[in-house]
Amino acid sequence: MAIEDDDWRLQGQEKYLLGRTMRWTTWTLHREDWDHDHCEFCMAKIWDRHSVDDDHVQYKAAWVTADESNRWVCRECFSVLRASFAWSVVGEQPTP
Ligand SMILES: [Zn+2]
Repeated sequence: MAIEDDDWRLQGQEKYLLGRTMRWTTWTLHREDWDHDHCEFCMAKIWDRHSVDDDHVQYKAAWVTADESNRWVCRECFSVLRASFAWSVVGEQPTP
């Protein structure tokens, strides 16, 4: 599946995500005052639980930048954008 250059999910992320090394991981609480992250592209919610009241697409595991674990990309966006962003991966792969 390809992505168009004017896709709504593309908002200049290549400035900080192009060519990064990504790692697949389960989300864990890493700061007391921060209980979730969002996919950098589609804003899916990435955290350690699911809420039926929440309209966001939600994931408990996702791709994160391997060096500082600061930028999250959901599985769906990762598979669509991997070639465009030239990501390399380290560690485990998600099970299909
Ligand atoms: Zn996403």
